[in-house]
Amino acid sequence: MKVLLVFAHPEPRSLNGALRDVAVQELLAQGHEVRVTDLYADGWKSQVDHADFPLLAPDARFKPAAASSEAFAAGGLTTDVRAEQEKLLWADVLILQFPLWWFAMPAILKGWVDRVYAYGFAYGVGEHSDTRWGDRYGEGTLAGKRAMLIVTAGGWDEHYSARGVNGPIDDLLFPINHGILYYPGYDVLPPFVACRVDRLDAAGFEPVAERLRDRMRTLATTPPIPYRRQNGGDYLIPSMTLRPCLGDPGANGFALHLDRAEG
Ligand code: FAD
Repeated sequence: MKVLLVFAHPEPRSLNGALRDVAVQELLAQGHEVRVTDLYADGWKSQVDHADFPLLAPDARFKPAAASSEAFAAGGLTTDVRAEQEKLLWADVLILQFPLWWFAMPAILKGWVDRVYAYGFAYGVGEHSDTRWGDRYGEGTLAGKRAMLIVTAGGWDEHYSARGVNGPIDDLLFPINHGILYYPGYDVLPPFVACRVDRLDAAGFEPVAERLRDRMRTLATTPPIPYRRQNGGDYLIPSMTLRPCLGDPGANGFALHLDRAEG
């Protein structure tokens, strides 16, 4: 398979840098082709602004989604964005790797998403009408491909458990897994999460590295998170709410969008 790893850590000698090397080495050993986007090393521009759209008149009012749509349709996106889109189309698997910063991805990686996920590429895809709300959540440009997160966190596993004070890790990562990866079509694998890493020593590193190697070995066979497909009949259109007969009665929140019973 072809694997793209997007890496978001400012220090190559960090734990994340070491884990990236472990992942890449194992992927190559398994015969996969690997490309890495190293956002800090590349000096990735993270903010969306007028300069992203060279075809937009300098005095034109800047409307980000409209500008994105027009630029994508006209082939007028910037070179750095088009290069990342080409890598996404090339890759069978996308891996996003980052340290958890303020319960989210570092700003530079969010900026990669904001700029690379153009209108017409990652959103605004497919028919939008009274009967169809586009190709998204299981359908879209990147359908048929796999994606997963590699995340490190200072907090303990217990802090991210079902009753942990930080909130469950699956809930915290839902906006990324469901909102950023599943949205444009990826089958999303369960994340690789390493908690309590800030005082990790060499002895503690090896079990984490081995767990990561195992995830890289099983990239093609790990079952994806069973998110419900938007256009699979589970949601009412156009309200896009889950049909009343589905999900646990009285339940709400992210877990409703898992196809537990039917999956
Ligand atoms: P590093 O600091 O590079 O290394 C961590 C430890 O691993 C060090 O002790 C290092 O010596 C050791 N190590 C062991 N083996 C190796 C090796 N082979 N190579 C390199 N190092 C090794 N945590 C949360 O849980 N939730 C949050 O919301 C959160 N927000 C944060 C916000 C900010 C701005 C910052 C700076 C940190 C935050 N943290 C949070 C903590 C953060 O998630 C961790 O510091 C981070 O995941 C550690 O990864 P690292 O690559 O930076 O580790």
